[in-house]
Amino acid sequence: MFQTDGGKRRTLNPNNSMTTPVATSRRRILSGKCLCGAVHYAVADEFRYALNCHCSDCRRATGSAFKPFAGIERAKLELTQGKERVLVFGDEQANHDVHCGVCGSLLFSVVQGGASVHVTLGSLVDEPTIRPTAHIFVGDKAPWFTITDALPHYEGHETPK
Ligand SMILES: [Zn+2]
Ligand SMILES: [Zn+2]
Repeated sequence: MFQTDGGKRRTLNPNNSMTTPVATSRRRILSGKCLCGAVHYAVADEFRYALNCHCSDCRRATGSAFKPFAGIERAKLELTQGKERVLVFGDEQANHDVHCGVCGSLLFSVVQGGASVHVTLGSLVDEPTIRPTAHIFVGDKAPWFTITDALPHYEGHETPK
């Protein structure tokens, strides 16, 4: 079938027409929130890595034996509720942790000079596709905690592949 549209033509950018609508329609968005519910966020289910960190900073920030977290580009996470209630710990212009200012939950950390965020898996409401693949900073592990799963251990950062 052939139709004219009155001579009007639209120039489509081939890159946009091929990738943008597909990527947008397939994107799965996960929600997360703090303990009291004052702060909510939304993050794409497109995490690039997930790890269990045993460093003393992560243990103290969460009050746990270790912190399961997943990394993603900062632009793929946004605060959807309670933006004015957050508590920022660290350098707001660089690396910092974002907590709920009411109940104190650690929601995510801004890392790599602002390029990425490390989302605490424990604050997600929805189930992410990714799973933690290793234990890192096992050299700083709490002595009272024994790792009983089969994931690889790294003394510090995971060795880049
Ligand atoms: Zn809260
Ligand atoms: Zn850590």
